Amino acid sequence: MKIYVLGAGAIGSLFGGLLAEAGEDVILIGREPHVGAIKKKGLIIRGIVDTTVHVEAMTSVPRDRPDLIILSTKAYSTEEALKSAGEIVKGTWVLSIQNGIGNEERIIKFGGRAIGGITTNGVVMSEPGIIEWRGKGVTVIGLYPQGHDPFVEEVANTLERAGLETHVTENVQGWIWSKAIVNSAINTIGTILEIKNEIIMTNDYLLSIAMEVVKEGCKIALQNGIEFEVPPMELLFQTLEQTKENYNSMLQDIWRGKQTEIDYINGKIVEYAKAVNLDAPMNTLLWALVKAKEELKGNVWRKRK
Ligand code: NAP
Repeated sequence: MKIYVLGAGAIGSLFGGLLAEAGEDVILIGREPHVGAIKKKGLIIRGIVDTTVHVEAMTSVPRDRPDLIILSTKAYSTEEALKSAGEIVKGTWVLSIQNGIGNEERIIKFGGRAIGGITTNGVVMSEPGIIEWRGKGVTVIGLYPQGHDPFVEEVANTLERAGLETHVTENVQGWIWSKAIVNSAINTIGTILEIKNEIIMTNDYLLSIAMEVVKEGCKIALQNGIEFEVPPMELLFQTLEQTKENYNSMLQDIWRGKQTEIDYINGKIVEYAKAVNLDAPMNTLLWALVKAKEELKGNVWRKRK
C-alpha cells in the first residue's frame, strides 16, 4: 500500500516506521531536523521494539496520489496540514489517528474519504530521528462517522501485519468521543495540578471531579446523537489504571511551552453543548484554566516552587 504519513512526529513516525518495515511503500512527511536525521541515519525506534528503519522522509507532500494518508499532526495543525497536501486529498482515503474532536470533519471538508481512529499506543520523540515506543496499545478505526467499507478492513489488516494491534468498528465516532471525554477529565486535572494520573485515581476530591466531567461530557454527546460502544466512565477507570505512572501529554506540552489540544477536547465539548442548548460549566471552567496556563506557559507555577 502506498502511504503518506502527514505529520510524522512521535505517533506518526511509529506507524509509518513499522509499516515501512513490514514492506509498505511509506513516505514520512514531517519537519526538520527530524526529517534530515531520518534521511541520514534512518528512523530509530526504541522501547517495545529496537530497530532502525530506512524509510523515505520529506518536508512537503508529494503531488502523486497515495492509497492512504495517515494524518498524525496535533489537532490544531490539521487544517494547515490538509491544505498543504492540496489536491491529492480529494477522493483519497485519510485515516486520522489524532486526539480530539473535529479532525475527520476537516478531512471531509477538504474532499477526503475519512477513516476515524483512536490509538492508545504511547510514543515520544526523544531526539530528531529517534522515537521511543513506551506503551503498546490498541488502535480502533472505522469509516467516519459510522458504517463499513472493505478498505477500512484492508487498512486494519495492514496495520496488524506491521505489529500494530488494530480493531475495526462501525461506530468510530463513538470511540472518538469516548476518548475525548476521558481526556477532557484526566488531561485537564493533571495539567492544572501538574500531577501524575495516579493521583487523580487515589484522591477522592479529584476522582469525583473527573467523574462529574465525564458525566457532563456524556450528557452532551448523547444529546448530539453520539452512541458509545464502551461507556466513557468505564474507559476513565481503565485509562487511569493503565496510565497511572504518566504525566499526561497536555501537561507535557505545557512544560515544553507548546500549544495544547484543549480547544479540540473540552473546547469542542462546550461547542457541542451550545449546539443543543445545554450548559457545560465544568468543561468551560477546565478549558479556561488550561487556556490561562497555556498563556502563562507554566512559568508562574514553576517560579513559585
Ligand atoms: P508531535 O510529536 O508533535 O507530531 C506531530 C508532528 O507533525 C510535529 O512534528 C509537527 O511539527 C508536524 N506537523 C504539523 N503540521 C505539519 C505539516 N503541515 N507538514 C508536516 N508536518 C507537520 O505529536 P504526537 O505526539 O505525535 O501527536 C500527534 C497526534 O496524535 C495528537 O493529536 C496526539 O494527541 C495524538 N496521539 C499521540 C500519541 C502519542 O503517544 N504521541 C498517542 C495517541 C494519540 P510542528 O511541531 O512544527 O508543528
